Amino acid sequence: MREWIDITRTLSNSMIHWPGDPPFNWERVSDITGPGTCNLSQISTGVHIGTHIDAPLHFIPDGMDIVELPLSQLCGPAMVVDIPAARDMTIEDLESADIERGERVLFRTANQALWDKPDFDESFYGISGEAAMWLVDHEVPLVGVDYLSVDGYNQSTRPAHYALLGNGVIIIESLDLSQVRPGRYELVALPLKIAGSEASPARVIIRKMRRRPLRIVREAITGVEGQGRGTLVTEGLGKS
Ligand SMILES: [Zn+2]
Repeated sequence: MREWIDITRTLSNSMIHWPGDPPFNWERVSDITGPGTCNLSQISTGVHIGTHIDAPLHFIPDGMDIVELPLSQLCGPAMVVDIPAARDMTIEDLESADIERGERVLFRTANQALWDKPDFDESFYGISGEAAMWLVDHEVPLVGVDYLSVDGYNQSTRPAHYALLGNGVIIIESLDLSQVRPGRYELVALPLKIAGSEASPARVIIRKMRRRPLRIVREAITGVEGQGRGTLVTEGLGKS
């Protein structure tokens, strides 16, 4: 049985948020133990709170909003990569990882430890602009990180956001990958369907791949009359 792993951060009134953004606030407005006939709550929040998805519209004026993101881009095979270096991610970091062209990538980094702190920590690491372009060049459709931004706090021109969103790459921020080992997984990432929004909190879950994606390769036809039958060859089976 391949168990689903929840890599979503739990939303709560005490959770950290980007400096200046509206905080998350949940409150019960009717209580079944009081005068109310049922429990009823309301929330107010910035949309870049907790585990959330950035659509291109976040930085690109005519970019897709959160409703327009293709589900087939949000969900599917994904690779979890360990980047332990205490600095912004480099091309060298990416080249030493086993990232395949066109693969979704979730980065587990040194930022993980910052979630133990009660306050936002601006010393977190991001993805350098060059590394972000490497991901674009390798046709990565979705990038996930484990703190509040793909750009470090002092990357004021936001090069990773522009490189990724400007090329249609979906971003997930503030993942909880603390219980996840590097490897290949199946990803489900579903933002709320908020009309016109550039981002939304999301529930994000993964489970181990049963096997590598099935690749069916048709062998070349032999060309010899009577034997010219294609053979189906399966690759990548049997490895979990
Ligand atoms: Zn965001």
